[in-house]
Amino acid sequence: MPEPLAASGKRLRVCALYPDLMNIYADRGNLLVLERRCAWRGIACEITAASLGAGLDPLAHDLFYIGGGQDRDQRLCAADLVERKADALREAARRGALILGVCGGYQLLGNSYVLDGEEISGVGLLDIDTVREDAPRLIGNVAIDVSSWIGNGSGAGDRVLAGFENHGGRTRLRAGQEPLGRVLRGYGNDGRSGFEGARAGNTFGTYLHGPLLPKNVWFADWLIARALGVEPSQLEPLDDALEVQAHRDARRAAGV
Ligand code: GLN
Repeated sequence: MPEPLAASGKRLRVCALYPDLMNIYADRGNLLVLERRCAWRGIACEITAASLGAGLDPLAHDLFYIGGGQDRDQRLCAADLVERKADALREAARRGALILGVCGGYQLLGNSYVLDGEEISGVGLLDIDTVREDAPRLIGNVAIDVSSWIGNGSGAGDRVLAGFENHGGRTRLRAGQEPLGRVLRGYGNDGRSGFEGARAGNTFGTYLHGPLLPKNVWFADWLIARALGVEPSQLEPLDDALEVQAHRDARRAAGV
């Protein structure tokens, strides 16, 4: 059993993309969870924001995060992302940095988002396409099973992510693109395929808000460990009584 890391001088460098614009359903809470769970273990966590107009250094961060947003804000960010940040983000992905996108952010990590007949280009790190259909939004509590790929060292012995979804876009995975998980309850990518989210290497996308990480702290720890290049079992255990309860409640809300 490896020694816990505790205050080992490790440092998690997080880059928040468009935190001012892509922050629907308090998605910035995901950053707070990363920051607090590192701090409680004596691991320094530095969060840098990169919004409209800012450049991106692919070497300066271990984890890049982009939250969800309304179509209007998402349009603005998409143009900036493709023009100013996509190359750096792809380079960061190539060297193994973690990239996490939620909802609108997830859509922008894909190939395209078609909205009102206009095609908005994405970064192309996930081989997905999203179309805003003339149909009701997909809204509700959701739970997904990620057990097919996540390792045993993922903490709580739990392989279910629970949260809330609200998206007009329907996302299709192209051939060979792995989903993040299988839908247990809720709609997921398109309400039809049974798939939710997508993952490729260290890039992950999901429709789960809530925000995602406060309701699924085992996954937050898995991401932290991965970004630091250690096993989740090497992270010092925390008193997660409240967090485990929050996870159970989110699962229960979804009916799982
Ligand atoms: N604007 C996107 C959609 O409606 C994403 C919404 C969100 O991030 N919640 O599909």
